Amino acid sequence: CGIVGILGNHEAAPILVESLKKLEYRGYDSAGIATVSNGRLDRRRAVGKLVNLSDLLVHEPLAGKTGIGHIRWATHGAATTGNAHPHRSGPVTVVHNGIIENYRELRAELAEAGLLPETETDSETVALMTRMYMDRGLDPHEAAVATLKKLDGAFALLWLFEGEDDLMIAARKGAPLAIGHGEGEMFAGSDAIALAPMTDRITYLEQGDYAFITRAGVEIFDEAGRLANRDEQRIDLGA
Ligand code: GLU
Repeated sequence: CGIVGILGNHEAAPILVESLKKLEYRGYDSAGIATVSNGRLDRRRAVGKLVNLSDLLVHEPLAGKTGIGHIRWATHGAATTGNAHPHRSGPVTVVHNGIIENYRELRAELAEAGLLPETETDSETVALMTRMYMDRGLDPHEAAVATLKKLDGAFALLWLFEGEDDLMIAARKGAPLAIGHGEGEMFAGSDAIALAPMTDRITYLEQGDYAFITRAGVEIFDEAGRLANRDEQRIDLGA
């Protein structure tokens, strides 16, 4: 029940795990991370405590300075490795907190496009929908926005894409999400605590906002797709 994302200048995997530890207080049953390294997208997932994910990463390391991470509190589908996030379909990977209420309808639409779920989760439909739109020729930005228009429910979402080392897309509705600003690095996370290991400069997304993030900065849009001005704050966590 927490997410984190990094467009960084250091290996992302250890920082993602460190950040997920800060979110442990929210409760979770499984964890996973995905990275993009020289364009190549890959992921690791493990059931149970975060130490199981760190152990897995010792044996099967994940390179890359671009990454997303998730700790899961299962709502749809058992707490298994297969149901753990990040979810992937083709060039798209996604982490999700919350519930996609209309995932059954989305699955029906996806089935017509020949895209079948590989997990029991509601969340996977977000990766599948985005992939469907990319298959139809939309770029990652357009595909994520088209997907958002289809989603009912509560969500904080982060997307990464194969071939895109410098792009992360974020969105929130009914679940919190913060953008973190670094020096030539950018971050996203469920709350300022998750971002505390990386930065204290935070911009909170508002209800319905989505954001296109690169290492150079962030562009935030409101639910109607208008460029939005959201204040950057300095958060003092007393650490
Ligand atoms: N509904 C999603 C799932 O069951 C996300 C749960 C969460 O917020 O961790 O995988």
